[in-house]
Amino acid sequence: MPRIQQLSPQVVAQIAAGEVIERPASVVKELVENSIDAGATRIDVEVGQGGTDLLRVVDDGCGIEADDLALAFAAHATSKLSSAVDLHQLGTLGFRGEGLASIGGIAQVLLQSRPAGQTCGAELQCHGGQLSPVRVWNGAPGTRIEVRHLFFNVPVRRKFLRGPSVEMAQVAEAFTRLALSQLSLHLTLRHNGKVVYDVPTSAGLLDRIAIFFGDDLRRQLFPIEAEQGRVTLGGYVAGPECERGGAQMQYLFVNGRWVRDRGLSQALQEGYRGLLMTGRHPVAFLFLEVPSDEVDVNVHPTKAEVRFRRPEKLQQLISNTIRARLQTEDLTATLRAPMPQPVAPPTASPQADLPFAPASPAPPTVEARRLPPASRPPTPPNKPAEAPRLPLSSPTAEKRVTPAPPVPETRPAPAPLARPAKAVQMHDLYLVVEVPEGVLVIDQHALHERILFEQLQERWHAGALESQRLLIPEPVSLTPAQAALVLEQAGPLAQLGLDVSDFGAGTVLLSAYPALLGKRSPRDVLRAVVDYLASKERPPTREAMLNELLSLMACHAAVRAGDRLTPEEIADLAEQRHLAQDSHHCPHGRPTSLLFTRQELDRQFRRT
Ligand code: ADP
Ligand code: MG
Repeated sequence: MPRIQQLSPQVVAQIAAGEVIERPASVVKELVENSIDAGATRIDVEVGQGGTDLLRVVDDGCGIEADDLALAFAAHATSKLSSAVDLHQLGTLGFRGEGLASIGGIAQVLLQSRPAGQTCGAELQCHGGQLSPVRVWNGAPGTRIEVRHLFFNVPVRRKFLRGPSVEMAQVAEAFTRLALSQLSLHLTLRHNGKVVYDVPTSAGLLDRIAIFFGDDLRRQLFPIEAEQGRVTLGGYVAGPECERGGAQMQYLFVNGRWVRDRGLSQALQEGYRGLLMTGRHPVAFLFLEVPSDEVDVNVHPTKAEVRFRRPEKLQQLISNTIRARLQTEDLTATLRAPMPQPVAPPTASPQADLPFAPASPAPPTVEARRLPPASRPPTPPNKPAEAPRLPLSSPTAEKRVTPAPPVPETRPAPAPLARPAKAVQMHDLYLVVEVPEGVLVIDQHALHERILFEQLQERWHAGALESQRLLIPEPVSLTPAQAALVLEQAGPLAQLGLDVSDFGAGTVLLSAYPALLGKRSPRDVLRAVVDYLASKERPPTREAMLNELLSLMACHAAVRAGDRLTPEEIADLAEQRHLAQDSHHCPHGRPTSLLFTRQELDRQFRRT
């Protein structure tokens, strides 16, 4: 064993830097946080080649005195903390004095700064820890930092960096977290000279969510707000139909700082219990404000993890608030749009679609949708007291005396009181089912897809997904970028029975595909996979990937819109509705069924 010796300051600096700076995104986080702490109102981030070659952050903050420039690069040098007492009442994002020291140790940094109110500024370079002399700099008030050739002196680290697009995705993620937490800031992000995001001061939280994740998501969010003692919770949660395969769309902020916290994430998931299938994750943006003596942010070099004094309290607050909020929303997509008004009786053609017309006191089930007011049964059983629910539902089949259905209702007599009691296929697409609450309209494809998805997932977990080998591997030509995307996911794809290998020049060889796909062309399936991967800004997590593939397979194997089903198939499908763990929504987030409530029907027909 060699003798013990003190490590050189350079090695110490590199080891320390490794904890704080993992990739370009970590540099962006550290620099932008410094700008925020400096009171900047505008921060511009510029990235070249995913940040591996250039990162530049320019702010209009308070600036650094010329005499302090060198100190800014010293380890454990900070202007934000002077005693351990301050550690418990932090008002800044930084405080460990490690950011610039770490970056300066593993890159080539140019720091230029001019304190507000001074006529000129100064600049300094730090290359792998080596400082240049301080020079005069005639720039605008604020600070400008350029970081070039990240990890130039740590080849192992440099090797671990991924391609520019992947690194850029990470930078964008870091930027997103900062922009969501600092609402009064004007932030811009440029990549290779092009504007990626421009987030104006005027953009509030919802606007920012829309900027980063699109208008569709914005429309699906519910605000939440709660207070418990000195703790407040705010933000937005999305309806369960926005579910994702991973937790990456869960943004959690504690006192303005983005954090990761298992307990709080579980609490969020708990808020959706019963609304999401296992393995699916909700979308949420949660902002907790916790008194500083209740939370310790000094447990992690990048401060991505914090420790709470009473985590259970916060967890409860989160799950209860979310659960209560979601309960106020009806989660089967209940029809709220007004139905056709009685003043405009439908023309003959819609009526032709009706499978049957009621001519007797049938309960208001499927007939209610498009019937002209005149054909309403004369003496409807509209007094629940005289006509109890259960007996109502069974005799209806016999009472339909004038059926003129395009799809004859040839189903054998339904088992009395079975739920759902009856199902009829319409337009070769919708199954209409009487349920105690009203009338349920099922999208046959969406529901079947959901059921298959569940079954596939189960089989996959049980390791029973079979794959079919192709006698002659099939070449599929893609663009080189698409091929790279697919080959990057060869591992997870193989787990699902889809074997791909590189054939060069953008061509991918397909040698096996999931047996469950039956007669579907494996090439089509692969293309669907490519489309999915290409639609992602960043590579999906393994779990998201597997879930998406299962849902693609389910989608391909499910009955289609336009498939006429046999009465048995109809009955089967309607009955299986209860087997799907989350039968409200198909794996793609479209509703599987719509409920026309009895109440709403009665109201529309002016029976109440
Ligand atoms: P910390 O942020 O933990 O204090 P850093 O190494 O990130 O440590 O920064 C060291 C010091 O350099 C900060 O405390 C601050 O005084 C100064 N500094 C860094 N960036 C800026 C900036 N953009 N504007 C003004 N001062 C800055
Ligand atoms: Mg800092």
